[in-house]
Amino acid sequence: MAKYIFIVGGVMSGIGKGVATASIGSILKNKGFGVTAIKIDPYINVDAGTMNPTEHGEVFVLDDGYETDQDMGNYERFLDETLPSINYMTTGRVYQEVIRRERNLEYKGKNVEVVPDVPLEVIRRIKEATTKAKADVTLIEVGGTIGEYQNIIFLEAARMLKHECPTDVAVVMLSYVPIPQNIGEMKTKPTQYASRELNSVGLQADVILARASTSLDAKRKEKIATFCNISPERVISAPDVESIYDVPLNFEKDGLGDILCDVLNLKHRSTDLLSWQGFVDKTKNGNKKLHIAVLGKYFMSGDYVLSDVYISVIEALKHASAHQDLGVKLSYLDSEVYEINPAKLQELKQYDGVLVPGGFGSRGVEGIISAIQFVRENKIPYLGLCYGMQLMVVEYARNVAKIPDAHTAEIKPDAQNTVIDYMPEQKENMARQSFGGTMRLGGYACKLNANTIARDAYGKDEVRERHRHRYEVNPEYIVKLKEAGLVFSGVSPDERLMEIAELSKKEHPFMLGTQFHPEFLSHPLAPHPLFLAFIRACTT
Ligand code: GLN
Repeated sequence: MAKYIFIVGGVMSGIGKGVATASIGSILKNKGFGVTAIKIDPYINVDAGTMNPTEHGEVFVLDDGYETDQDMGNYERFLDETLPSINYMTTGRVYQEVIRRERNLEYKGKNVEVVPDVPLEVIRRIKEATTKAKADVTLIEVGGTIGEYQNIIFLEAARMLKHECPTDVAVVMLSYVPIPQNIGEMKTKPTQYASRELNSVGLQADVILARASTSLDAKRKEKIATFCNISPERVISAPDVESIYDVPLNFEKDGLGDILCDVLNLKHRSTDLLSWQGFVDKTKNGNKKLHIAVLGKYFMSGDYVLSDVYISVIEALKHASAHQDLGVKLSYLDSEVYEINPAKLQELKQYDGVLVPGGFGSRGVEGIISAIQFVRENKIPYLGLCYGMQLMVVEYARNVAKIPDAHTAEIKPDAQNTVIDYMPEQKENMARQSFGGTMRLGGYACKLNANTIARDAYGKDEVRERHRHRYEVNPEYIVKLKEAGLVFSGVSPDERLMEIAELSKKEHPFMLGTQFHPEFLSHPLAPHPLFLAFIRACTT
C-alpha cells in the first residue's frame, strides 16, 4: 500500500520546506524504502520557465525537459534520483489538464467544478507519480503557507486523499518559531495559529517541524504539543544549521524517521546515514579553502544577494570541493562593474577560479566577455555554463580568431558575425512568440572527443546532460574557430551542435565551457566530473 506524506508550511515562507522535504526523503530512502518526491507550486504559470529568476530562484530542468522549481533539485540531490515531470505541478498545469479533458468530453457532459474536479486531478497526478516511481512513500510538498488562498485547492486534495485512505496519509507542518530580539524568548503562538488554520481546512498535523534559530526546549515542545494537538515527541526541532546537508542528520536525532513510520503504520527499520555523514564531515573538514568567483548578474534583489538563482551551481561546487577535502568560499561578482571600470578586472587575480553560469539578455554581457578575456590571458581556471560557454566562444572569436564584430545573436542580431546564433527551430518559435517551454530542454546525448580535458574528466565516450537554451555555436564558424585553436571536445551525436568548448592544456590550465548545465546532475555523493576537474585545476 502506497503511503503519502504532505509537507505544508506554517507562519511564513522561505524557512526551508524544500530542504526539509528532501531530508525526510533521504531518511526514508536510507531506511530502505522506495521514495519519490513531488513539488506543488501554486502559481498560474504552467512551468517555472517563464518566471524571472530574481523572483522565483533557479529554474531546475528535469531530464525530460520540464522547467521546474529549485526544490526539485534539492530532491534529486538528497534522494540521488532522476525525477520525471509528473513530480512537479503548478496550478496552471493542473487546470490546463482539467480544461483539456473537458474540451475532449472526457467528463462526459457533467458539470466540471473547482471542487472536487481540480483536487481529483491533483490526486490523480500524485498517484501517477507514485506508480511511476514504484514508491513505498511519496512526499508531497505544498508550496506557500497555510492560510493563503492560493494553495487551498492542494490542501483540499490532501484532505480528500486522507479521507480515502486515513492510515496512509501523514501531514507534516514546517513552522517558524521566532525569538524576537527585544523579548529574548521563543514564541510559539504563530505556530499555534498556523495549526488552527490547518485544522480549518480539515487537516491535522501529525508532526510539527519547528524551525528556529536554536533547538526547542522541553517547555516549548510541551506548549506546541498541547495547543496543536500532538504529542511532544512529534514536535521536532529544526534549528539553523551550518549546511543544508546537516538537516537529515538533525531530524534523525529526534527520531523523525521512526515517528513517520509509526504515523503511517510502517515497520521500523534502521537508518543508514553513514555515507551521508561522511560527506557532511568532508564539507566541514576542508583545511584549505578555495576562493571561487561566480560572475553573473542575477544576484541582487534590492539590497539582498540572491544566491538562490544559482543554487545548483553553488551546490555542485560544494560537492566537488568536499570530495577533494577542500572547503570553498564563493564570491558573487556583478559583471556590470567591469563595464564601468575595466581596471577592476585585476581583482580577478585573487581568485583560484572563475565560473560564469547560465543567463539571458544583454545586461552585463560586455563585462562578462572582458572578464573571460582576462582569465584566459592570465591563465585563471575558468568554467562556463551555457551562456558562460557561448560568451567564451564570442571572446575567443573576437580576440584570438580575429573575427570582427563577433557576437551572439541574442544581443546583437545584426552583428557582422553572429558566432552564436539561433538554433534553426528556435527562429520559428520566436516568430510565433511561442516562449513557454520551447527552448532546447532536458537531457541529450553528447559525444566526447578523445584526448580532451572533457573526455579525460568523464572517463567515457558518451554522456547525457541537461540543456536549456535557444542559441548555439553557429555551424558556419566552427572551422574558423577550430583553426584558431578552440577545441570542441563534446558534440551532439549528429555532430551538428557544439556541446563543449575548451582550450588545450598547452594554452591554458583549465578553460572549458559547456552548452549544457552539468550542475543539475551533481549529487552530494556523486559530484559532477567537470566540476571535479575544475576544482582540481583551481588547486594548482
Ligand atoms: N541565453 C542563452 C540561450 O538561450 C543561454 C541560456 C542559458 O544560459 N541557460 O541560448
